[in-house]
Amino acid sequence: MIRAEILSVGDEVVSGQIADTNAAWLSQRLGDLGVAVLAHAAVRDTRAGIIDAVDRAAGRAEVVVISGGIGPTHDDLTREAVAEAAGADLVPDAAALEHIRAIFARRGLEMPGSNAKQARVPAGGDLLPNTNGTAAGFRVTIGDAEVFVLPGVPPEMKQMFDDEVVPRLPEIDGAIAVRALKCFGMSESTIAETLGGELDLDGNPKVALLASSGVISVKFTACAGRCEAALALIGPPLERARALLGDVVFGEDADTLEAAVARLLAGQGKTIALAESCTGGLVAHRLTNVPGISAHLAEGIVAYSNAAKTQRLGVPGELFDAVGAVSEEVARAMAEGVRERAGTDVGVGISGIAGPSGGTPDKPVGTVHVAVATAAGTVHRELALRGSRETIKDRAAKHALNLVRRGLLRCRSR
Ligand code: ATP
Ligand code: MG
Repeated sequence: MIRAEILSVGDEVVSGQIADTNAAWLSQRLGDLGVAVLAHAAVRDTRAGIIDAVDRAAGRAEVVVISGGIGPTHDDLTREAVAEAAGADLVPDAAALEHIRAIFARRGLEMPGSNAKQARVPAGGDLLPNTNGTAAGFRVTIGDAEVFVLPGVPPEMKQMFDDEVVPRLPEIDGAIAVRALKCFGMSESTIAETLGGELDLDGNPKVALLASSGVISVKFTACAGRCEAALALIGPPLERARALLGDVVFGEDADTLEAAVARLLAGQGKTIALAESCTGGLVAHRLTNVPGISAHLAEGIVAYSNAAKTQRLGVPGELFDAVGAVSEEVARAMAEGVRERAGTDVGVGISGIAGPSGGTPDKPVGTVHVAVATAAGTVHRELALRGSRETIKDRAAKHALNLVRRGLLRCRSR
């Protein structure tokens, strides 16, 4: 497998003034192409620092991708430093020089002398044209590594990578396949315990857990000569993991909870209505992201005030004094009220405290009550969520979707 290292050059990156989005983007792109990215590094705009970093990266990897520091100003030193690391002189490239001159001519300007240095490439290297800007990139060989030098400006860097670097990558021997089981409603550590020895960071496939916004993915990555063979390696362990995790798995790969709910509603020919308080319509938003949901989603009501909960959903006013708006009773009444008024098969009620203020010792920030009403009765869950207001809203919406999903699964198995 081909190994790559990524190097970002620039004081502003090292000092944290800008986030290194170039490295993140390059890493993903290279990973998708089946290249193993070993490391990212960021170095300041100094000749010695750049030479040292390039030498070390080229000693470890077959591909080194560098971005930044090839502009026209005195602090742009990457071109010179990489040429020195390659032991090559910089020579002007006539086509690149003409390209820069033409850019200035189009603006009615003469090319400043300093821009000419952007058209130089180490002898023995290839010029990588920059269709979006003035700074030409280049490829040069250092030791056993192919080193690609790209501009720092993200759109220029991305275009040059796709158009000029990808076709020049060394032959990738073999294919990588990635699949994932998406899970919700079980903690990462419980999933790890449930999977036990099925988790395997050194195997082929590698089986690892990845948590993102409350959703845990069991990720399978396999390498083989061809893509079909890599996928075939994933099949059996993926099915074993699915059997171990059961209903916790809501989908695969890019699947979402809302899409899983929509599939179940469609499969059972059912309709749903939503009554949301603290999530402010987030469940409705998520469901309406799924194409075809109009056949199943009747309505979503954001009933924020107590008065709205009574007027729109029929929540008995005395409940607010007796148990408070954030309570099991009110969430149940919201779910049952919206189901009855909308005449749907499923009704959802959500009431909680998203914070940062409004919490009490009894009902701290993050207390959320979710209820799902169906013909079979109403189920309820009390959540104790943590995080910012946005995080609490996000997780509450996901738990509500998951509770609907679990309810629909039970109907199916009946
Ligand atoms: P220029 O011709 O504009 O000087 P350059 O190749 O010299 O291009 P830099 O000067 O290093 O590139 O960076 C130009 C701009 O691109 C930076 O100000 C920054 O906004 C952005 N940039 C540079 N490096 C990165 C990075 N690693 N991640 C995200 N953005 C970056
Ligand atoms: Mg610059």
